[in-house]
Amino acid sequence: MKISNNMYLLDGAHFDSNIFLIDEELLVDCGTGIFFSQTIEQMKGYGLNPKKITKIVITHAHFDHCGGVKKFKELTGADVFIHKLDADKLRNGDVLENFLGMRFKFAKFEPDKILEGGETISTDCNDFIVLHTPGHTSGSISLWNKKNKILICGDLIFHDGFGRTDLKDGSESDIKKSLLKIKELHPNILLPGHGTILDIKNEYNKEDFEKIFQSI
Ligand SMILES: [Zn+2]
Repeated sequence: MKISNNMYLLDGAHFDSNIFLIDEELLVDCGTGIFFSQTIEQMKGYGLNPKKITKIVITHAHFDHCGGVKKFKELTGADVFIHKLDADKLRNGDVLENFLGMRFKFAKFEPDKILEGGETISTDCNDFIVLHTPGHTSGSISLWNKKNKILICGDLIFHDGFGRTDLKDGSESDIKKSLLKIKELHPNILLPGHGTILDIKNEYNKEDFEKIFQSI
């Protein structure tokens, strides 16, 4: 789906995360990799050339978001970014590859760039500030586009609630702090790691967004 000029959501097939492509340069999350060829076909269907990707940001080291990283790296040669607290999970292949009652294979992966939060990741037309938003995992990050008030938030928040904190190194108190941090930004659009986009300018969605915070 086309979100705006040069911003695309490649719908997560089955248990894949959502994958976002911005300005044909920046890929956010990779899905499991099981549906890699379908994702590439989706890109081509929009007239996008996946080989132009130069940066890949992983919002957190869970298999449904990072499983495809090796295939994307091989295709594009792009630099792979991840937060320092989730980096070892990629290096050690500790990415929750057993989930939904299934066992997946993840080859250990060495990221290129380690993030701490506060950095800016830029494309031709957009800047994204890296926000450390732990809770779902200790190294979960969100990307904040201040100009358009767009937040790419991984599994921090969805259209109908917030991310799980009962998985390995999740923290309920951390996710609450992270949620309060993003609420203060007053985003217009949330691009979550699964499910539908939340356009908070729309009254109906605004209510949904506010409901999420009533439960914390
Ligand atoms: Zn996750």
